[in-house]
Amino acid sequence: MHSGLHALRAGHVFDGGEVRGPGLVLVQDGVIRDVDFTGAAPPQHATVEDFGPDGWLLPGLVDAHVHLCWDAGPDAVAHVTSQASGTVLETARAAATSALHAGVTTVRDLGDRDYLAVTLRETVPETERPEIVASGPPITTRGGHCHFLGGEAEGAEALRAAVRERAERGCDVVKVMASGGNMTPGSSPLHQQYGLADLRLIVEEAHRLRLTTAAHVHAAQAVEDVIRAGFDTVEHFTFFSADGVSLREELLDEVVRRGVFVSLTVGTLPGSPVPPAVAARESALWDLAAKVIASGARVVPGTDAGIVPAKPHSVYPHALAELARAGMSNVQVLRSATAEAAEAVGRGGDKGVLRPGAHADLLVLGSSPVDDIAAVMDVRAVYRAGHRVR
Ligand SMILES: [Zn+2]
Repeated sequence: MHSGLHALRAGHVFDGGEVRGPGLVLVQDGVIRDVDFTGAAPPQHATVEDFGPDGWLLPGLVDAHVHLCWDAGPDAVAHVTSQASGTVLETARAAATSALHAGVTTVRDLGDRDYLAVTLRETVPETERPEIVASGPPITTRGGHCHFLGGEAEGAEALRAAVRERAERGCDVVKVMASGGNMTPGSSPLHQQYGLADLRLIVEEAHRLRLTTAAHVHAAQAVEDVIRAGFDTVEHFTFFSADGVSLREELLDEVVRRGVFVSLTVGTLPGSPVPPAVAARESALWDLAAKVIASGARVVPGTDAGIVPAKPHSVYPHALAELARAGMSNVQVLRSATAEAAEAVGRGGDKGVLRPGAHADLLVLGSSPVDDIAAVMDVRAVYRAGHRVR
């Protein structure tokens, strides 16, 4: 496809784990062939792009939680439910481009309609979109959170069938609404939707079919059950109570002990209004995020991009600034956004690292994200599968 050898050079390299550099990354056929810090000259036959002594080479960023089919408009629910499939697919395509240009080269879509995120992956060339890890429609109860996406299933038989359907449709992950949510009338984030037995059955069936599992949880009891059921990632992790946020410390300890990934919902356009249930709990949620980060839990950023105007599909860099404000060092933020998030979405080794054999998805910044995390907005270039896309 593109057999030429490309050499990318910059004064600094973050390889997904450590800050290194100056360095040279050799790319061929969409894959990283070598990463060199010896100061050796690029091979003679390579085309060289030099981003200079101030340039930073990083793995492309990974967003653990997006909704490509949602247009981030004032009524994104109406858009995703009532527009024609072709229109929603166009929304998803624009969303994918927007994320890619922000440096996000892998997204995990945790709620589409009609498997449109899978369709997008199958119909748009990989160099024109991020890598898409897809769940299809979230599994939910009848009339439950986001039931309008088409994923209603109750009872052992129906739940097993729902998981199998997702495997057959080419999904990578099973998403379950374990508690209610904020965007569905009649659904309450304070209440569980499934009991422990159902959650266990979903995880067993998904893992048997080699799919990973993600659970949407706001209610504390739902958090307890999804951890016990063995979900790979816990989304939101907000511990909503009737009038605030009530962290149960022993559940946080359990998450740390088991190494469960916490996909924290971060990334809001500064100054943009957020949903009332979140706004009412804003300072408590930041306290919670700080505690989760301080606990040593494996925290990864999930923006929930698309659901409201405050969360456009380009919002990811703001999520990283928020993680830093909540107590992560800038290097921790970078690890969380690359190697850790790639592992959380089931793509560890291929994504989120600059090392031989990994996919050539890269981000180039013009200044140091270690000095100031806002440098993630100073994008000089984005590469996807070895192709420069920005
Ligand atoms: Zn979501």
